[in-house]
Amino acid sequence: MNEALRTSEHHGVRWFTFRCFDPWQPVMAVVSSRHGGVSSDGKATLNLSYAVGDVPERVTENRRRLVEAIGINGTPVICAAQVHGCNVAVVDESAAGAGFSGPMSAIQTVDALVTDRPNLALWLGFADCVPIVAYDPDRPAIGIAHAGWRGTLLEVSRCLIETMQAAFGSRPAALRVAIGPSIGPCCYEVGPDVEAAFRDRWRALSVPIFRHAGDHRYLNLWEANRRSLLAAGVPAEQIALTNTCTACEVDDFFSHRAQRGQAGRFAVIVGLRKGG
Ligand SMILES: [Zn+2]
Repeated sequence: MNEALRTSEHHGVRWFTFRCFDPWQPVMAVVSSRHGGVSSDGKATLNLSYAVGDVPERVTENRRRLVEAIGINGTPVICAAQVHGCNVAVVDESAAGAGFSGPMSAIQTVDALVTDRPNLALWLGFADCVPIVAYDPDRPAIGIAHAGWRGTLLEVSRCLIETMQAAFGSRPAALRVAIGPSIGPCCYEVGPDVEAAFRDRWRALSVPIFRHAGDHRYLNLWEANRRSLLAAGVPAEQIALTNTCTACEVDDFFSHRAQRGQAGRFAVIVGLRKGG
């Protein structure tokens, strides 16, 4: 793995943490991998989603293994039923356990979760879409967003920052943000409809987020989300790019694109440690 991520392993379950959050003791931010679970085929082995056709008992076992490995056994988890939108839910203890044992109880129709409460684990699933993790050291507060091309177009990263501002008084200038493993500009080929949608909605594209190669066009979701974060007021030097492409690194991460739609989901889990 590259220098932006640290690799850890416990009983075969492998996960990554963001080095950019090393100085911030209260931050718990974990990216799971494909390693150490019981699922097979495209879900092999640590698929964490109940919504991709895997055997539910395997997903339950995979989730159990991961929370044990990363040491959040006793921490209530809160999951969202993601829909590629830009809604953000502000959550607290009242949502503890949402979506952890099955998809029905997940927080519905949101693609981002924020909290200022310690000892909760906010959990979203990924397989190419961009994880955005934001931390406010002042409050403290933490948030996570899920941005595929639709969420990126709708600027879910900016919605995440604005919700932290509104709910917790977070100052964008104080935030520390990480853009996690997701499909990179090397691999994310899109159709002309996607480029047209961005040109319509993001009228003045001040930075190139599309690269053309012959008849092919590639969208840079990392740069697009970075741009949304800058527009929301987060300083450039406080936005950490992981530069890890899930389609290139498909041995470690699920990739919807690289696995032709048969992928499982890895999780990005964030929280504030107790006492932090
Ligand atoms: Zn790639």
